Amino acid sequence: MSEPSPPTLDRAYRVRLRPTPAQALMLRRIFGARRAVWNWALAEQAAARARGEKRPGLATLSAAFTTRRSTGETAWLSQLPREPFDQTLRDLEAAWSRFFKGQNRRPTRKRFGTVNAARFTLDQRRAGLVTIAGKTGRVQLDGIGRVRFRVTEEMTGRLRSVTVSVDPAGRWFASVTADQVPAVAALPAERSSIGIDLGLKDTAVLSDGTRVAAAKSLTTKRKRLRRYQRSYNRGRDAQLQALGLDPRKPIPKGTRIPSSNRMRKRKAQIGRLHAQVADARRDHQHQLTAMAVTKAEVIGIEDLAVKAMGRSLHRGFRRSVADAGLGEIRRQLTYKAAWQGRVVSVVDRYYPSSKTCSACGAVNAALTLRDRRWVCPACGVQHDRDANAATNIEREALRRLAEGSGDSPATPRSGGRKARGADACAAGRTSPAGQPTARKRELSYRGAQRRPPAKAEHDVSPPAGEG
Ligand SMILES: [Zn+2]
Repeated sequence: MSEPSPPTLDRAYRVRLRPTPAQALMLRRIFGARRAVWNWALAEQAAARARGEKRPGLATLSAAFTTRRSTGETAWLSQLPREPFDQTLRDLEAAWSRFFKGQNRRPTRKRFGTVNAARFTLDQRRAGLVTIAGKTGRVQLDGIGRVRFRVTEEMTGRLRSVTVSVDPAGRWFASVTADQVPAVAALPAERSSIGIDLGLKDTAVLSDGTRVAAAKSLTTKRKRLRRYQRSYNRGRDAQLQALGLDPRKPIPKGTRIPSSNRMRKRKAQIGRLHAQVADARRDHQHQLTAMAVTKAEVIGIEDLAVKAMGRSLHRGFRRSVADAGLGEIRRQLTYKAAWQGRVVSVVDRYYPSSKTCSACGAVNAALTLRDRRWVCPACGVQHDRDANAATNIEREALRRLAEGSGDSPATPRSGGRKARGADACAAGRTSPAGQPTARKRELSYRGAQRRPPAKAEHDVSPPAGEG
């Protein structure tokens, strides 16, 4: 079977941005204002609902925003380019539609410091918006001016939009989406198919026997991260006590916790470590997915019950890492497969990939998560747990594909951007793998106290009982 490979495709280029201090300040103002506009639009909608009216949609909000920009106390908004705010209103609209389809939680107010990206469209009628001279590129952004970036690869195709973001370590990125990118002819694969068994700790085993171990530096970095987080928490608890509050109880709304010097220092260190861990993970994930896509025509992967598995891991950071990691690998596989004309076949999460004997097909129900090696009671073949699972995933993936049910582009929510826009989409609304979104950060900073995950996360079917 051969997939007709498209002559062109959509993708994104992620580059490091080097804004001047003035540009960075302006961008941060835009981020803050985007948050204000989001919260304002949400409040408008809530007010309309309270009056018994229909929830105002994009057109109404957009018109209201125009007035708001030109009058009264909010006229300062007119000093900022309009486009990122139109984008915000569209994002809100999209958030509602995902909510009504049951894909997302209800859109909520955005808290201070949680909006760290803005998107700009590149007007196709204007030439020279992106210029490149050697290692330095410049991109013209409305209201910001020409911003420098580091050139890492040639940008082909038609450049459509730029999403600017800043990470917790203070590094600036731009994700440039492009369409009509000429597809590179894919190299012939070594194998017709391959299965990937993803482990929890960043390890993966391929059905050809390749083992991809976790990035080593992660373990030490994560330990350090936890230490700094504990230190930060102690500082915060001390501040709470000084305010006469009980640190074990929920913090009353609107409480301003003063930051000590040490807390500020820790916060910066935590941000840097998060960024380093995220980089190492991303790098590792790219190696794995690139290798799988190069190796085989059909890539089999499990539809892991991402959320359910994450829950059993409990507690903030590790949970979010597991969630983001598995979703991210699947996302990368999906788009890289599309680039190279490969097929990703997703195996049902209830398929007992670990418990099935790849030699005789018997299901060993007694197998537990701790059994790394086992002997099949039916045929006596010795198995390595992960290699056996990978072989089964490969077979099941092919079977599903033959049945016409395996090729599922839908990805779980945690990593679930569409393949379109590719990698750098992470710079948009999702946080890159392992990187703290507001909620994750909150969970990890509050590490000491257990809080139940938000209700909406429980709508998952029971865990597959599958490693
Ligand atoms: Zn057997």
